[in-house]
Amino acid sequence: MSSNQKLYEGKAKILYTTADPEILLTYFKDDATAFNAQKRGTIVGKGKINCTISSQLFKLLEAYDIPTHFIDCPAQDQMLVKRVKILPIEVIVRNIAAGSLCRQTGLAEGTIFKFPLVEYCYKNDSLQDPLLTRDRLLIMELATPEQLEHIRNLALKINDILKSFFDQCQITLVDFKIEFGLDANDNLILADEISPDSCRLWDQSQTEPNLRVMDKDRFRRDIGNVEAAYQQVLKRILTQVG
Ligand code: UDP
Repeated sequence: MSSNQKLYEGKAKILYTTADPEILLTYFKDDATAFNAQKRGTIVGKGKINCTISSQLFKLLEAYDIPTHFIDCPAQDQMLVKRVKILPIEVIVRNIAAGSLCRQTGLAEGTIFKFPLVEYCYKNDSLQDPLLTRDRLLIMELATPEQLEHIRNLALKINDILKSFFDQCQITLVDFKIEFGLDANDNLILADEISPDSCRLWDQSQTEPNLRVMDKDRFRRDIGNVEAAYQQVLKRILTQVG
């Protein structure tokens, strides 16, 4: 396969082929979308920040034996990754109530859970990424029962690792979305990104609900200072990894 061909362009990233058919290059864009792409904008420097944050978090998870698609970060906004077939499931892990969970259940924002909540959404823009039950997911054959159990176990382990790492950065990991893929040997590996675009992160030094937000809710809710908040997340992560 020839290299540098655009394979796919998503809302926040572009995928290119490389000389090695099993390796792809992801370019992280500054484009931001919310509410199923009804709201669009640009967060200056976001591509570089999210790529660097994701790379650091993937390296951290690999150190704890979580398989990820991460290979290398050859430039601040570029990531070399293993080619995988992405499962059309958004896996959401929540430690504290926020966002759609509050809208759908009436739980008050900020309610701290006794155990993490793992949820699955169907990755399908035209259906607006609906929440799935376990049985819907299996009936739709989006994953096998064994894969689903593996996904849940990995998601909970990832949550433990990230929660305690962010705590060390004085950041509360409220919730996050991850995606998994199957590699050439059908091994399940963590893919996509982990960044302030896909996590809710609250600054532990702030108590006021808007001031503590360090993630895409600043863009979704027009709170402002989006770039500065993303930069602050990056700075604290880089300080922590040393
Ligand atoms: N999330 C994401 N992509 C999506 C939907 C959600 O990265 O398409 C992340 C979101 O940033 C948050 C978590 O998943 O960290 C839970 O999001 P929620 O279901 O509360 O949706 P929202 O309120 O953002 O619509």
